[in-house]
Amino acid sequence: MRRILIDKRIKDMAADYVKDIQTVVGDVEACLRNLTEELKKQTTKIYVCTADNVNRYKGDEYQSVSKYVGKIAGHYDEINNLLPSQYDGVMSEIDGELGTIKVDEVLVKLRGKKKQPLYELIVDIMGYNKVRKEVLPQYVNKLEIKTCVYCNAQFAITTLIEDVREKIMLGKPGRPKKAIVIPRLGGYYEMDHNKPKSKYPYLCTNFYNLQPCCSSCNKRKLTRDLPFSIYYEEGDPDPAPLRFAISPQDVIDFHTKGKCKGIKPYLCDEANPTKRVRARKNGTLAERFNYIFDIDKIYAEHEDEVEELLWRNRIYTHGIVSATSSQFKDLQIEDFDFGRYILGTYPNREDALKRPLTAMKQDIWKQVKKDE
Ligand SMILES: [Zn+2]
Repeated sequence: MRRILIDKRIKDMAADYVKDIQTVVGDVEACLRNLTEELKKQTTKIYVCTADNVNRYKGDEYQSVSKYVGKIAGHYDEINNLLPSQYDGVMSEIDGELGTIKVDEVLVKLRGKKKQPLYELIVDIMGYNKVRKEVLPQYVNKLEIKTCVYCNAQFAITTLIEDVREKIMLGKPGRPKKAIVIPRLGGYYEMDHNKPKSKYPYLCTNFYNLQPCCSSCNKRKLTRDLPFSIYYEEGDPDPAPLRFAISPQDVIDFHTKGKCKGIKPYLCDEANPTKRVRARKNGTLAERFNYIFDIDKIYAEHEDEVEELLWRNRIYTHGIVSATSSQFKDLQIEDFDFGRYILGTYPNREDALKRPLTAMKQDIWKQVKKDE
């Protein structure tokens, strides 16, 4: 579970993303201001649905829902590349307008329209679906993310797809439809909102809030708050909070008896780098990852990958590596990466999202490596 440092390159990318989404979403701020006015009208009905009752929302309290949307409009120009460290300030300002009401409990019925959740209205106005389809895949591609950011076990591939749009030729009734094929990028993954859009709809198109993941992890996460984002900023006290390990006894057996078979990797908190954890709802980050995503169960099925990794570790001793690396250089293979060849995947931490199981392989390689 690797994270990406928000450096100048990433900030520039987020700034480009903001420009790109403007071309597909239209004037969101004006639409939000329009909704603010609609919510003030007597013809608009507002309901608050808690688990045990449904209340029509009345009087001055109408104002708070309208003000909430007005606050989002006021922040719109900064909201799509707002840094995670700035979330709290903006969240308390916007959510503060609702007082004790939770946004996912608010239903709105505008005149002539169906009753629908307020957050859905906001997500719709902010154009999330268009952004997801037409803008995000090119950024996932630029970020070189090719695996689920939560499990690092499933692929998350962006590829060129053909968007086929059909239209009937104008002025020629009865003519067959003409198919227009527009090549664009599409993604074989789902997009998780780190801050769920039902609770923080105004962050639905925030660059740093969108995390490509496999459908299994996305369905498991649902609207759960998880204190883990793939992005971190300079000065983050915990840029690498998780790592994989095998048990210390397995390491000893590997070095002393050559044991490679039947070794199951598991996820640990960085603070306790070889301690196996349980799955717990409100536990440490590793415990929560296991509770939500079943990480240890998934990785237990990859003991053959660990076995091959350990074979390589035994075969490529320091002596063999130095003796053969110069021979490999003579083969003149373009951009040959000896470390990648030995590990069977990318050896650098920042490349772990390029291929499934890479974080696990890097961590266990490091754990069993002995300086010779
Ligand atoms: Zn996943």
